[in-house]
Amino acid sequence: MTENAKSIYGLVGYPVSHSLSPLMHNTAFKELGIDADYRLFPLKEEELDGFFKDLCEKNSLIAGLNVTIPHKENVIKYLDGLSPYAQKTMAVNTIKISNQRKLTGFNTDGPGFLTHLTELGVNIEKKHIALLGCGGAARAIISVLCLLPERPASIRIYDVVKEKTDTLLSDLAARLDIGIVKAVGSIDDLGIDKADLLINATPIGMKPEDPCLVDEKLLHKKMLVYDLIYNPEETKLLKLARQKGAKASNGLGMLFFQGVLSFLHWTGLELEKKTKDKMLANLKKGLHQ
Ligand code: NAP
Repeated sequence: MTENAKSIYGLVGYPVSHSLSPLMHNTAFKELGIDADYRLFPLKEEELDGFFKDLCEKNSLIAGLNVTIPHKENVIKYLDGLSPYAQKTMAVNTIKISNQRKLTGFNTDGPGFLTHLTELGVNIEKKHIALLGCGGAARAIISVLCLLPERPASIRIYDVVKEKTDTLLSDLAARLDIGIVKAVGSIDDLGIDKADLLINATPIGMKPEDPCLVDEKLLHKKMLVYDLIYNPEETKLLKLARQKGAKASNGLGMLFFQGVLSFLHWTGLELEKKTKDKMLANLKKGLHQ
């Protein structure tokens, strides 16, 4: 790398044009006076080989990456090592690149979700959790919850295709104790009326015409409803949950905290409150543009 050259960070995925990550990370670089730029790398699967080959060259300016759909699992074969949590999850959303161009994969989605729950004052020890969707986000959430020393009492998970959930769980079971997790074949078997936490990890709710997946009669005021969707800020599910007196949160906090943790992995820097406040404010501004 050329002395004093600007470092490049960025997001690998396809598509990535909607991403708010540049706003968040470029705010942090500016606030800290770091000469770096966070960019978008829209890459199809067939382009990954060439990209990662160039990345390992000594003259590459790329110092760290985020990874999103559909490559969180595809990128693992290019890495020299995985953090213990990424190894359990087998999905990577953050890559740290050493001066020797060695690549280490992390997953900050699950820890970002947990950090946001803590921020919301929610303790999930011995609690009952209902989870909608069994894609990449659910994989990260199940792993992080199962790894907690103080675990929830139960996690029930429903996806339209039950076989997909079974496949995810048997994959995770090879590396994790997932005894508290049960796949159910119908949304009615999620036990939402008795759940302490309902998580929507499906994309249903992003479009204005999307329905609320859950029968509103099952929502109750003792629960937290957490929708990973943050655009729109309030999905139909969140609106109904609030109307029922439940605590409700969208997924902007999870997005924010996964970013803060990625930044820590790349730079070793714990961000100060005033920097984090600016990042979050810019994220919110970006959402409304
Ligand atoms: P994904 O890999 O596509 O997984 C979504 C899963 O939900 C798929 O298995 C999908 O099945 C299933 N699904 C779709 N409709 C359903 C329904 N009606 N009932 C039950 N399951 C249904 O997506 P993801 O990456 O996990 O992301 C899920 C959502 O979380 C997205 O909205 C994403 O934007 C959001 N997210 C937010 C954050 C954050 O930081 N806040 C982070 C990651 C993801 P099919 O594939 O068969 O449709």
